[in-house]
Amino acid sequence: MIERFIDPDRIDPSSDCIELNSVFSGERVKDGKLIHGFEFVEPGKIDREGVEIVGKFRKKMGFHVIAEGISDESAQALESLFSEVINRMKGVEYRFRKDNVVIAVSHASLKNFTPECVGDVIFRAIKSVRTVRKVKVRIICDSNEFENLREKAARVHALREIKNRSLKDEDVNEFYLCESCKVYLPYHACIITPERPSPCGTVYSEAKSAVELDIVGYYSPVARGRLIDSKTGEYQMLNEEMRKRTESRVNQVKIHSVLDNPPLTGNFAEAIVFYIPERNGFGIADRTFKKETPIGLKFEDIEKFILGRQIEGFVGVSFSYLRSGSFLKGEGGWRRVVWVSPRVYEYISGFLPESILNELRKKMFMG
Ligand code: SF4
Repeated sequence: MIERFIDPDRIDPSSDCIELNSVFSGERVKDGKLIHGFEFVEPGKIDREGVEIVGKFRKKMGFHVIAEGISDESAQALESLFSEVINRMKGVEYRFRKDNVVIAVSHASLKNFTPECVGDVIFRAIKSVRTVRKVKVRIICDSNEFENLREKAARVHALREIKNRSLKDEDVNEFYLCESCKVYLPYHACIITPERPSPCGTVYSEAKSAVELDIVGYYSPVARGRLIDSKTGEYQMLNEEMRKRTESRVNQVKIHSVLDNPPLTGNFAEAIVFYIPERNGFGIADRTFKKETPIGLKFEDIEKFILGRQIEGFVGVSFSYLRSGSFLKGEGGWRRVVWVSPRVYEYISGFLPESILNELRKKMFMG
């Protein structure tokens, strides 16, 4: 998810109107007012910078930002700033993203959580992003304008998602490495390509935008180099770069493989794919699955064993990678999957063809 790549030290949303500190991020607000919102950042021309409040604040507060000097990809990344900075407000909890934002504000913090204050904080945060030339923040409280803009935002978000999915690994010359987990895993780097988001869910356009906006220090572009094997996704310069970053612990990576030199897994994998030898197939368990997997290990046991290491037969993946047309293509794709945890099944039911789901159900029943 996008908010992971916002580096708190690189943005400055400081304001006097509300107590704001990163120690309040993660705070849970049980009793308070629920405010509905949406996130929408778009590139555009601006005559006059500033904060505009539209309508009288009751229960709705949509965030519409027009920024000059950014691409549409960067606009996606900037949308993650809303949750990042609003979560730092004392007594405020930001839940969900994009078109379905819900903000819980404690009774004590309500008097400070005004459209003017929120607008000011968002304005400062976005202005502190180096590449943004001019910005206008619109806080939408008027019901009609709120619904109109929320619908427009939903359409734009859907188009961006389609565009993100249409890009292939071979369409780009650079991939991205993320070394955020290096603090805990000294020889680690996650690879992010158009067809393989990171195990924690960062997609290619997000990493690219983060670098372009200069809001984090742990992503870096790497030339992919010559394609060695299109089936497994092996690239000559990527291999060399991984050798350097891991001090020769990893010399070869096949980005769409599990059994043969798979990519490394960082701290926040959403799911793990593992080989089941007696079935000659793969299982996929997500992080919320607490029972034993068919190989007799729980998710957390497997995770401890593979973190920051290249262990053939295991690889951490994100949910979004499960949607990739290149998912496990080095090993035969979905036809080789014989078991998935219930949450993974629910997720893949939304996009896999019924024939593959049928086959999978039969295999799981047999297993
Ligand atoms: S799991 Fe990988 S992509 Fe995610 S924060 Fe860690 S190093 Fe970065």
